[in-house]
Amino acid sequence: MDKSTNDETNDKTPLDKADVIIIGGGASGLGAGKEIAKAGKKVYVLEARNRLGGRIYTLTVPGFSTPLEAGAEFIHGDMPATQSLLKEGSIKSYPIAGKYYMIKNGKFQKFENIRTTFSTLLSKADSLKQDMPFSKFSDQYLNEEKYKTIREIARGFVEGYDAADIERASTFALREEWKVFGQSDQYRLKGGYIKLIDFLSKEIIKHNGAIFLSTVAKEIRWKPDNVEVISDNGKIYSARKALITVPLGVLQSKPDDEAHLHFSPGLPEKLEAAKSIGYGTAIKVFLEFKDAFWESSENQIQIRKMPELGLLISDTFFTACWTQLPNKTPLLTGWLAGPQAEKNKNTSDENIITMALDALGYIFNTNRSFLIKNLRAGKVVNWQTDPFSLGAYSYATVESNEAKKVLTQPVEDTLFFAGEALSEGTAMGTLEEALANGIKTAKELLTHLKS
Ligand SMILES: Cc1cc2nc3c(=O)[nH]c(=O)nc-3n(C[C@H](O)[C@H](O)[C@H](O)COP(=O)(O)OP(=O)(O)OC[C@H]3O[C@@H](n4cnc5c(N)ncnc54)[C@H](O)[C@@H]3O)c2cc1C
Repeated sequence: MDKSTNDETNDKTPLDKADVIIIGGGASGLGAGKEIAKAGKKVYVLEARNRLGGRIYTLTVPGFSTPLEAGAEFIHGDMPATQSLLKEGSIKSYPIAGKYYMIKNGKFQKFENIRTTFSTLLSKADSLKQDMPFSKFSDQYLNEEKYKTIREIARGFVEGYDAADIERASTFALREEWKVFGQSDQYRLKGGYIKLIDFLSKEIIKHNGAIFLSTVAKEIRWKPDNVEVISDNGKIYSARKALITVPLGVLQSKPDDEAHLHFSPGLPEKLEAAKSIGYGTAIKVFLEFKDAFWESSENQIQIRKMPELGLLISDTFFTACWTQLPNKTPLLTGWLAGPQAEKNKNTSDENIITMALDALGYIFNTNRSFLIKNLRAGKVVNWQTDPFSLGAYSYATVESNEAKKVLTQPVEDTLFFAGEALSEGTAMGTLEEALANGIKTAKELLTHLKS
């Protein structure tokens, strides 16, 4: 945690009324907080966890030689809001490296199949006049036997990359993603994504904002230009406006869930709209080995070699698996998303690691005992059992656009909503959308604070 964070949780003196209370100290809330604090307005950020960042979580785990990105890891291309903040905070990024491999039916497959899939999907989807769920699109336009592989790859992508339910995912939104997929480089941040969170929180403190960690907002009592937020420890925070940036999973949660927000008066229309946006889930499995056994090496002839392995797609329970190249740390990150992650919601971490090693045994054509002998550390991060996320990130459904219009409409110019799930951009689910939407909503909110 950033030591400069002005964590006033245990201070019992009554607090002054702020201009704005932000609920949620993730990228969206902190991006918005920086904007509001820099405009000279008094801002309080309430964060349920004992750390900032939310779904950005650069984690140090004993046994691993490098910090792990338990949540967001990549910058997907030239993302304007992200790039502008990185520049402002002098935070460096670097492109990822490595070759792509695909294993199916126990053999190497051509990775080009994925590119062919996207051009076929686009040629079919371009003529669509009306949006429909991906499953319906696939049944109507890809039902011939010759499209079998394309159907399978596309489904794997929708479920694995977008973490989406094919019965709900919007084909129009996927079409936009297919158009740009693979066209830009991917980057990581030097020192991890936490650098960005540290920069944003320091800016808020520098401009007289206050950040309260381990503070779960439970109830929001409001009337025009007056908000009281009651936290889990009974403390009352008041302000003229509130900006709610909790994850979609929290907006969709049930009243007895730990992070659930009770609005008084209630906002049934908003909470109903939240249910229409898709929210997928993901599990990350980190396995660090003594050496990168997949690289060429003469004394390991029993292993299927993958020199310069960057990304691996396979027909195992992992959707994808990647290395840290250009960094040579012998770390494999396994990715399970959508139905595969949901199916394993309650699987113990130990069993997930066992299943992961079995999958790697198949992928690298070796046995589990070899992998166990080489394993230095293992860690599982399951986002659907995290009480303050209740999932990983959002995806567009056929109803999403209408739902977002309802959610982003301020309530009596007093309650505002932001976060990755509410963005109108095309990179839905990403950090870029979280930042861009937080900043845009903060600017709008500031226009209502003038008087
Ligand atoms: C496994 C995983 C991998 C990802 N990979 C990438 C990637 O590579 N690239 C990319 O661009 N994006 C990625 N993302 C998505 C990205 O992390 C998110 O889009 C972004 O971080 C969301 O920011 P946010 O501020 O909208 O939400 P959050 O970061 O979730 O912030 C919301 C905050 O609200 C807090 N909160 C919840 N309930 C309460 C309450 N009642 N009271 C007070 N606080 C509360 C939460 O603790 C949280 O800190 C990934 C996400 C996951 C989970």
